Amino acid sequence: MSHISEKILLYRDILPKDVTLVAVSKTKPVTDLLEAYDAGQRIFGENKIQEMISKYEVMPKDIEWHMIGHVQRNKVKYMAPFVSLIHAVDSLKLLKEIDKQAAKNNRSISCLIQIKIAEEDSKFGLSIDDATALFTSEIVQELNHVKIVGLMGMATFTDNETQIISEFIKLKKYYLSLQKDHPNIQELSIGMSGDYKLAIAQGSTMVRIGSSIFGARNYK
Ligand SMILES: *Cc1c(COP(=O)(O)O)cnc(C)c1O
Repeated sequence: MSHISEKILLYRDILPKDVTLVAVSKTKPVTDLLEAYDAGQRIFGENKIQEMISKYEVMPKDIEWHMIGHVQRNKVKYMAPFVSLIHAVDSLKLLKEIDKQAAKNNRSISCLIQIKIAEEDSKFGLSIDDATALFTSEIVQELNHVKIVGLMGMATFTDNETQIISEFIKLKKYYLSLQKDHPNIQELSIGMSGDYKLAIAQGSTMVRIGSSIFGARNYK
């Protein structure tokens, strides 16, 4: 059995049953994805639209493709026919474009709103105040082809567990407060290879794990 399939089986064992594993396969070759697929993995996360499309075209058709990276509006149309969840929606303009392209494809696209919880400036996402403005805007209520099903966040890249936990708790609190008025909010996408245990302890429903399954990535 390959290292990759062993890891998939291991995560299936250790993750709570109500936590979804998104296998983050960015930069990895299709042969690696197929090993995960053969071990039963059906949800894959990519962060570049073109790369996701190339893989979608050659991989089996019962896979759910999650776009976990920052999305440029002019590229939404390329993934609109098949993407199953967009994790990092961070503007009304983007949400409107997703709605428009989903309508053209006669479908509804599920989205998560990315909230900025990390200290670093480089992380994308809305502040909690801006997210609240988005959730309460009338325009969003009129978008019939997007379904906002939850929130996504990335903690600061640090060894300081207390800091990571407090960032996750902040997001979890906001998630719970939103659920009162927005019953469709059911997913909390937090946790990566390095911090998924902390994320699960804080109520993650979806972990995005890459390097721990597929090995370190080589960026060109
Ligand atoms: C790459 C990436 C991951 C996976 O990171 P690992 O540390 O390799 O598990 C998770 N989420 C997002 C948004 C990513 O870009």
